[in-house]
Amino acid sequence: MTTPPAAADLPPLRDVIARHGLAASKALGQNFLLDGQLLDRIARVPGPLAGERVYEVGPGPGGLTRALLKAGADVVAVERDRRCLPALAELGDAYPGRLTVIEDDALAIDESALMGPGAHIASNLPYNVGTALLVRWLTAEPWPPFWASLTLMFQKEVAERMVAAPGTSAYGRLSVLAQFRSTATLAFPVHRSAFVPPPKVTSAIVHLRPVAQPAGVRMKTVERLTAAAFGQRRKMLRQSLKGVEGAVAALEPLGIDPTRRAETLTVAEFVAVARWLDRTIV
Ligand code: SAM
Repeated sequence: MTTPPAAADLPPLRDVIARHGLAASKALGQNFLLDGQLLDRIARVPGPLAGERVYEVGPGPGGLTRALLKAGADVVAVERDRRCLPALAELGDAYPGRLTVIEDDALAIDESALMGPGAHIASNLPYNVGTALLVRWLTAEPWPPFWASLTLMFQKEVAERMVAAPGTSAYGRLSVLAQFRSTATLAFPVHRSAFVPPPKVTSAIVHLRPVAQPAGVRMKTVERLTAAAFGQRRKMLRQSLKGVEGAVAALEPLGIDPTRRAETLTVAEFVAVARWLDRTIV
């Protein structure tokens, strides 16, 4: 019988990848991180993790998973690529009882039921499902959500959209959604050369913590408004908001010039319009 490796004696990730034949699959959005220092830095973004529970999407060969376990978290990881499971099982042996790996598609999982309240989410997200998962986590109902924080890798351009200010070209639906429901911050950029294989563009780690939702506003109304307004972002609001009943009529009483365009409206102004439309909510 072989003894499982102690956490400190884990083999280099490069060896794990070679030994388990984990050639990166483009279809699965696989760009692996191998630099232990960088992975430890990502695992520090949520704050101290000792005794915390973390949900990770796409552990792959387990680089970020290692860092999260090393930081003291208990990790539940969902991985679609079964080739990665033996490598993750070895990691689980080094941290007995602290790593649960589920072979599944993260889009098909009910992670709120799986994790319960207070869990952190940390992931070097597969690019093809990243935005869908983010939107799902940000539009969760009821609010506040089950997650205590999100620490996520995105293409830098997408990360910048989340934190963009009004009046900038990056400002759009994702900015309003992220800033309505969280304190979204750009933690740090990650150069493409940090990944194996390197993606085409620079990435960035974003960190989000949920904020209390203002009273009298439905998430659905904010979504409808931003979809209409940014769906025709070059048009004046009096034109772009025509499809949302009552929205154009709400602008003047709220002191919002109907000739403005979506990208000039602050999150607070979108919320004010949504609250006006939802004002019958008790
Ligand atoms: N966490 C590893 C790292 O940082 O090196 C791998 C990150 S890689 C960008 C994305 C991972 O997500 C891959 O391991 C891929 O197989 C997995 N993946 C892709 N689509 C998935 C899905 N729908 N559900 C769960 N995992 C998925």
